[in-house]
Amino acid sequence: MILTARLLLPISSPPIMDGGLLIRDGTICAVDKASALIRDFATEPHDDLGRAALLPGLVNAHTHLELTGLHGRLPLGKSFTEWAIAMLDLRSGLDDEFFSASARLGATTLLRSGVTCVADITTSGSSVAPLKAAGLRGIIFQEILGPHPEQATERLDAAEKALRSLQLQTDDSLLSVGLSPHAPYSLSESLLLRCAELLRRRRLPATIHVAESPEEVAYIGLGLGPIATTLLPAVGRHSPSHRVCGESPIALLDRAGLLSDRLTAVHGVHIGISDLQLLKQRGVALAVCPRSNHYLKVGTAPLPRCLAASLRVGLGTDSLASNETLSLWDEMRFAHRLYGEAVTAQQLVTMATLGGAAALGMVGTIGSFAPGKRADLTALAIDRVDDVDPYESLLDQASDDSVVLSMVEGKILYQREGTARWNCH
Ligand SMILES: [Zn+2]
Repeated sequence: MILTARLLLPISSPPIMDGGLLIRDGTICAVDKASALIRDFATEPHDDLGRAALLPGLVNAHTHLELTGLHGRLPLGKSFTEWAIAMLDLRSGLDDEFFSASARLGATTLLRSGVTCVADITTSGSSVAPLKAAGLRGIIFQEILGPHPEQATERLDAAEKALRSLQLQTDDSLLSVGLSPHAPYSLSESLLLRCAELLRRRRLPATIHVAESPEEVAYIGLGLGPIATTLLPAVGRHSPSHRVCGESPIALLDRAGLLSDRLTAVHGVHIGISDLQLLKQRGVALAVCPRSNHYLKVGTAPLPRCLAASLRVGLGTDSLASNETLSLWDEMRFAHRLYGEAVTAQQLVTMATLGGAAALGMVGTIGSFAPGKRADLTALAIDRVDDVDPYESLLDQASDDSVVLSMVEGKILYQREGTARWNCH
């Protein structure tokens, strides 16, 4: 089939006004002006989306869908450590029913907002079923924590068992499985080392929250601050389990053997030049979550520097325990205001598509429109297109409500009501 629209954003090549795609068997076979495709493939069925922008499906590079129901439950204005303690408290009262309902709501919300691929962290495993039912692509990361060194074997065994279960459940889907050590401060040094060994042995993708807050930097480097005095004592840990030697969180992960090209580091708010060099040398990808960082008042990630260093950088919303919406359009617009001219609309749309795909190791499959890639895409109704900067005009107009179509591997997963005139097949 040929699918055409007023504006086509292939991402890896310049925008095409009145552009289109030739899609066969779920794969993009050609990207061109609509008129050229219709001329060259005259017998091919054709659907025109009209006044719409057609672009690769968005990649949410960091979520916890099982926490979607926590929206508004954690008060604003707290410090990172106070928020984390409140979160621990709240979380201990949640059950599988809550996690499942949250994950269902989260998966539906993503799909309606133009996301076709997600990196989701789970403790309960409840996000697999709704993501699979929705037909979304992604990686489900099993979370692992354990600040006490003596817990390391038990926690690792439990995580391996959970990974096996996730792998069985994700069979016959576009989902794969990875491991998420939670953060450098919530795993003992021995557990970090054991996770690194497991990841090397199983060649699994991994993701970890790191360098998120000034509190984390103080705790890892000096063994001091609110994480040492309040957060870890709340879980019965009263002294650091890692060697305290002035290291940054990124340097600790490197010493533990966790930095690799299969790791996506999340947040990276507090990274210096030497951290950036380590991430680059080890081929680590980065997922930034500007609104979550703002919500928790932890600072602002040095995104322009990370982009200039050519790291693979994706964009994530984090969970609704630290954000107002799961919309990557809201995330891009917020980041655009936050960074001003230092990060362009084109860079942000690229991070939310090709950057996320690259961060998750899927750049050969999705993230841009090019022959041979899978037909994962989304379309948004737009009133106007600015020839000078179509990315900017898209960001100005785009919202979850303007998403009219989402497709994975050429199959429609979402079509806004009242738009049944498209018969893409
Ligand atoms: Zn997170």
